[in-house]
Amino acid sequence: MANLTLYYGTMETGKTTKLIQDHYNYSKYLIKLILMKPKVDTKGNNRVITRTKENIEVDILIPKSANLLSKKYFNKYKYAQFILIDEAQFLNKKQINELWYIAHKYDISVICYALKSNFKGELFEGSAQLFARSDEKHELTVNCSCGKPAMFNARRVNGKYIASGKEVVIDGENAEVEYIPLCSDCYLNFVLKNKIK
Ligand SMILES: [Zn+2]
Repeated sequence: MANLTLYYGTMETGKTTKLIQDHYNYSKYLIKLILMKPKVDTKGNNRVITRTKENIEVDILIPKSANLLSKKYFNKYKYAQFILIDEAQFLNKKQINELWYIAHKYDISVICYALKSNFKGELFEGSAQLFARSDEKHELTVNCSCGKPAMFNARRVNGKYIASGKEVVIDGENAEVEYIPLCSDCYLNFVLKNKIK
């Protein structure tokens, strides 16, 4: 029987690289795949793209309020064996529940690749529901520049760490914005300036 599976981590843990590798491996065995991503992720337009510029075309771009069980989408994935979803943290709670339903009602394996938390160190809506509903969870890790495991995605604007602002700002869309994976100690030190928030 199919499951809902989650791969999660900070920036630069190779989530999209893993997706592209999984896509390649499943395709090799002629498994029917559908690749989706939330429309709000404008990076690469209708492709998923890694930092090393590997990329593949997306079959379905998911609009913010889309019902994934509606005929429009169901007709596109109904013969798939696997659905892969990049940047799944940007989906809403209801959409994650729809993916869980697709896995268990239609026996289609759904694999989500997602950031755990936003630049303030809070779970994204999609990630929170993925933690609640995924049958399998796998953490992907990367080290902070100090050598400890990274926990946070710190936002840097024009080279300066910032602790407030709107939740979604896609890097690359805005040349001054970048995200840096930091461990807890470095986040407390560089971003929160040793204050509680
Ligand atoms: Zn550190």
